[in-house]
Amino acid sequence: MREPVIATIGLGANLGDARQAVHGAVVAIAALDGCQLLATSPLYRSAPIDSSGPDYFNAVLQISTRLTAPDLLACLHRIERGAGRERPYRNAPRTLDLDLLLYGQARLDSPTLTVPHPRMLLRAFVLRPLADIAPALVSAQALAAVANQVIAKD
Ligand code: AMP
Repeated sequence: MREPVIATIGLGANLGDARQAVHGAVVAIAALDGCQLLATSPLYRSAPIDSSGPDYFNAVLQISTRLTAPDLLACLHRIERGAGRERPYRNAPRTLDLDLLLYGQARLDSPTLTVPHPRMLLRAFVLRPLADIAPALVSAQALAAVANQVIAKD
């Protein structure tokens, strides 16, 4: 059997009942086969970046998982679809966005999956909640670099 890996997942939503979409996704991820929820950040509220519409609700969680990274991403896409996610155009407002931020120490670069997530260091809505649950993974310099972005705990 595969050894478990700690995976870090970013959650965001800004359409419909966005708070509920994030909570529902946490529950759905925790219930995935071969996955165990380790930590969930507080919920944050952030202004859209490279996107439009109302404020986003964001959180980050960590799981221990026996799924491969591509299998885990497929599960995340299934949960997104279950929340009514459509992809009409890049960076459209979304009912639920799930990003695989980190998969253990792995560095992956395929047409469908890049890990660490290539934009995670650019986003306060990733770094602030990640620093709450895994401070060793977020440097003070990284936080300082996104300090101008509008975000607050909900
Ligand atoms: P988005 O519409 O922003 O959710 O982007 C989803 C697309 O990014 C999908 O086609 C994924 O295959 C791809 N992708 C590449 N790397 C990642 C990652 N680390 N986490 C989530 N999606 C990823």
